[in-house]
Amino acid sequence: MKEIPTPDAHQELREAVRALCRRFDSAYWQQVDEARGYPEAFVGALTQAGWLAALIPQEYGGSGLGLAEASVVMEEINLSGGNAGSCHGQMYNMGTLLRHGSKEQKRKYLPGIAGGKLRLQSMAVTEPTTGTDTTQLKTTAVKKGDRYVVNGQKVWISRIQHSDLMILLARTTPLAEVKRKSEGMSVFIVDLHQALANGMTVRPIPNMVNHETNEVFFDHLEVPAENLIGEEGQGFRYILDGLNAERTLIAAECMGDAYWFIDKARRYAGERVVFGRPIGRNQGVQFPIADAYIETEAANLMRFKACAMFDAGQPCGAEANMAKYLAAKASWEAANVCLQTHGGFGFAHEYDVERKFRETRLYQVAPISTNLIYSYVAEHLLGLPRSF
Ligand SMILES: Cc1cc2nc3c(=O)[nH]c(=O)nc-3n(C[C@H](O)[C@H](O)[C@H](O)COP(=O)(O)OP(=O)(O)OC[C@H]3O[C@@H](n4cnc5c(N)ncnc54)[C@H](O)[C@@H]3O)c2cc1C
Repeated sequence: MKEIPTPDAHQELREAVRALCRRFDSAYWQQVDEARGYPEAFVGALTQAGWLAALIPQEYGGSGLGLAEASVVMEEINLSGGNAGSCHGQMYNMGTLLRHGSKEQKRKYLPGIAGGKLRLQSMAVTEPTTGTDTTQLKTTAVKKGDRYVVNGQKVWISRIQHSDLMILLARTTPLAEVKRKSEGMSVFIVDLHQALANGMTVRPIPNMVNHETNEVFFDHLEVPAENLIGEEGQGFRYILDGLNAERTLIAAECMGDAYWFIDKARRYAGERVVFGRPIGRNQGVQFPIADAYIETEAANLMRFKACAMFDAGQPCGAEANMAKYLAAKASWEAANVCLQTHGGFGFAHEYDVERKFRETRLYQVAPISTNLIYSYVAEHLLGLPRSF
């Protein structure tokens, strides 16, 4: 039977990540999901092996790999039946610090992150009253001497309970006082342990997937001025800069999911005998699996195109967005086909299909919803009028 995914230039890297992932089998992920727990042992092993420091330059203790390689790490986790959503934040959050942080900030945090002593798993952007309309966010950070005082609220902030540091976007100049609405926001690195004792509270949001995500409230939280990343007022641009990596890495996770669903579906279709023959002999069963495979292979091309452009330092907003769109669509279609192929058994926890079905659905909504990608393509690539 054909290998899924097809062997590529990253085979050695894939084998190494697979070897680690094999230690965390289906029973492990089922147990974590049922307990609504955090895959601490898995994330610990991944960190110790250095994979979560793939994008950190060697001078700070990381492996200095490209986005293509980092994306293969994420893909392999999902392809193994696991869920990289428990730890993918560190891969892309760290980019904000790396690109816009001062030398002192990089020296202070990056070696600790690379060595596994510190986790930078969280990024706080989304707010309950403004959602996707980020420039309208209401959380403020007001400078008072050598501190910024933060007040406001965030929602859907992931992995905060399993992180030491968080990237925070807050408004430092009121909207009415800036020329462009994208100006006047700033990015801070927040020490979560200090913050929890000094004005930040966290309320978990029970949700459809086993994803540790929270409401966060800031009540006069003081953040040292030295924790401002880059220039005051330029934070929105810094966050946007990081989104191409985020979208491409998520696309790779979707690829891992899609290939997992296709492999699972084709195996089951070959084994399950009904009406005296394998169900996979029926074209009504095999065609949807073939269709999902074609869509997945096509999406994978865009994912690697986005990686190559990112790694070459070229602008890749369009490719990163389109890769995320195509990959999330392909994985969701593959999930649906896999569930259908399994019939009733697809609903049983022991097959893992229903768990990964829930997990992969998230990527049509977060970190950016499908409509917002359509709108990006319509306006920025096709020159259609702005809709908002
Ligand atoms: C499990 C989970 C984890 C998350 N983790 C994080 C995190 O760690 N940090 C963080 O900052 N955020 C996080 N998010 C938030 C996520 O990025 C947002 O949910 C997502 O960007 C959509 O925003 P919203 O939920 O406010 O939807 P809204 O902005 O309220 O939009 C709702 C729907 O309307 C559509 N819509 C809105 N405006 C338009 C328009 N003009 N044209 C067409 N359609 C439109 C959207 O596409 C969407 O489908 C997470 C979300 C989830 C569910």
